[in-house]
Amino acid sequence: MSDASKIISIANVYKFFGPLKALNNVSLDIHAGEKVVIIGPSGSGKSTLLRSINRLETIDSGTITVDGKDINDSKNDINAMRMDMGMVFQSFNLFPHRTALENLTMAPIKLRKMPRDKAETMAMALLKKVGIDEKSSVYPAQLSGGQKQRVAIARALAMSPKIMLFDEPTSALDPEMIGEVLDVMVTLAREGMTMAVVTHEMGFAREVADRIVFMDQGEIVEVGTPQQFFEQTRHPRTQKFLSQIL
Ligand code: ADP
Ligand code: MG
Repeated sequence: MSDASKIISIANVYKFFGPLKALNNVSLDIHAGEKVVIIGPSGSGKSTLLRSINRLETIDSGTITVDGKDINDSKNDINAMRMDMGMVFQSFNLFPHRTALENLTMAPIKLRKMPRDKAETMAMALLKKVGIDEKSSVYPAQLSGGQKQRVAIARALAMSPKIMLFDEPTSALDPEMIGEVLDVMVTLAREGMTMAVVTHEMGFAREVADRIVFMDQGEIVEVGTPQQFFEQTRHPRTQKFLSQIL
């Protein structure tokens, strides 16, 4: 694919935590509309990679560009760039003293300078899209885990991001709530959103991923289509991982 369609370009990235090499020469491009699912054992660097993309972690060497702009170049405004990257965490990270609706409207009003009435109309539409508009005036503590995560996804979407980053969005959920969150993510994928998703949900990976990235010990071990990954991998580290989880 052409360079122009690359939304994210990660090249030769290293990240250390003291002596620990959390990212070891990682390179990966993500194209417009692509769904990349990142899987791998605990501690393999998946979160560090996602967090490096919006500079929640600072890399030690290599480059990461988003929409052609180097995120570590001080000439680029990282806060402006972050507005185009929605992030959804395992732990929801909703603002506890704001209603569901306010969780969605705060950033668009403050950062995108959207008029309040317009922000509220948009927020209600997004809450409806994730199936939770009847809870618009409720505080996060009154929501189930699945509902909280759907609000968190809607909140990220309220900024009209160019890409959505998901870090184990269903890992903190009771099993019966996983489906409702995955359904929202599948819908987003079908609508053409560019997505990078760290998950252990192999059904989702199979169904949605254009490419699966397998990480181990800070390295990208292999990248392939779901079929290549689940059925044709010859890589011993991938085989070992799959034998443990499938
Ligand atoms: P994953 O998301 O695949 O489970 P992480 O990216 O969270 O892995 O972590 C990769 C490695 O970096 C792990 O060994 C982890 O303990 C370490 N690590 C992550 N964040 C920090 C941190 N802030 N300080 C020190 N070590 C960290
Ligand atoms: Mg992680």
